[in-house]
Amino acid sequence: MPRPIQAFVHSDALRHNLQRMKDCTPDARVWAVVKANAYGHGIERAYEGLRGCDGFALLDLNEAQRVRDLGWRGPVLLLEGVFETRDLELCSRLNLWHTVHCTEQIDMLSQHKTQQAHRVFLKLNSGMNRLGFTPDAFRSAWTRLNQLPQVDEISLMTHFSDADGPAGVAAQMQVFEKASQDLPGERSTCNSAAVLRHGTHPNVSADWVRPGIALYGAAPDFPQRSIADWNLQPTMSLRSQLIAVQNLQAGDAVGYGSAFRADKAMRIGVVACGYADGYPRHCPTGTPVLVNGVRTRTVGRISMDMVTVDLTPCELAGVHAGFGSEVTLWGKSINGVVLPIDEVAQSASTVGYELMCAVANRVGFIQD
Ligand SMILES: *Cc1c(COP(=O)(O)O)cnc(C)c1O
Repeated sequence: MPRPIQAFVHSDALRHNLQRMKDCTPDARVWAVVKANAYGHGIERAYEGLRGCDGFALLDLNEAQRVRDLGWRGPVLLLEGVFETRDLELCSRLNLWHTVHCTEQIDMLSQHKTQQAHRVFLKLNSGMNRLGFTPDAFRSAWTRLNQLPQVDEISLMTHFSDADGPAGVAAQMQVFEKASQDLPGERSTCNSAAVLRHGTHPNVSADWVRPGIALYGAAPDFPQRSIADWNLQPTMSLRSQLIAVQNLQAGDAVGYGSAFRADKAMRIGVVACGYADGYPRHCPTGTPVLVNGVRTRTVGRISMDMVTVDLTPCELAGVHAGFGSEVTLWGKSINGVVLPIDEVAQSASTVGYELMCAVANRVGFIQD
């Protein structure tokens, strides 16, 4: 028998979260962002739950190929565009739409030999200063693209740096609207945080929205808002089992560095899950975890293959916990109790994005 750790990908939850994005921005079309292998879920496993979207947005050409291999005939957008001229051949062959964020990408397009003109998304740097043309250079980039026979329709896009926080999107929207004034073409600005927090403004939601994290059941603005607040459902459940139980006396320690010491007699469970599975090593004592659906906490250091947990809350709840008991590291327990990935991420001083992307290869994935 393999180690009992498994990651479940919930198609119903993906479908629910996608519908939430549509409900937030009813006039926009929705790109399902499936970069980073669908935020660690696996593109093939996430496809069933997300195929009701209007298009798939991603970064890697091989991921685009995989979406086409699944039979998807609709739009596919490369969010960072191409990296070298050769990539444009695959764009032609797979009918990929691609972002154009720098002059080098326009140069590549101008040298590309194709029968079929490409749909491109011209990216404005509206203040984040990662990708995109500055407002000054935006119009001339548009004009240059518009003169290329290789280019069909030009859409306009930008990306928000602060949609999840108090600064919001107003300043960047102003820059975007000014730079794109009078230019034709569809527009796209919103990530998940912008969809949830600002998507009701038609200028902001525009023609296409690009949610990622919200589709996968994490709150972009946690801890200010939780997935319960946003009516999102966890799409990934990392579950394992207890492979041992220890009875500690007061003064006994657990794990490396004896980092946790019992102050009274207590039972602890040993979970088949460690940092080699992608569980964050930085989680301190007290990180939430579910045993048979009962919320408890980790104790001591996270090791490569094991996590130790306090079984006291199970006893207090009258729920049996022993060898083989189900443990939910994040997501949904078998009996439906939810431990949001955001809470575990916060405990590890990171974000849900990182945890879901980092589940290791040795974990078995199951689509359900
Ligand atoms: C990753 C990405 C998104 C999705 O962001 P979330 O915060 O996961 O919703 C949207 N747009 C672009 C350009 C991205 O790279």
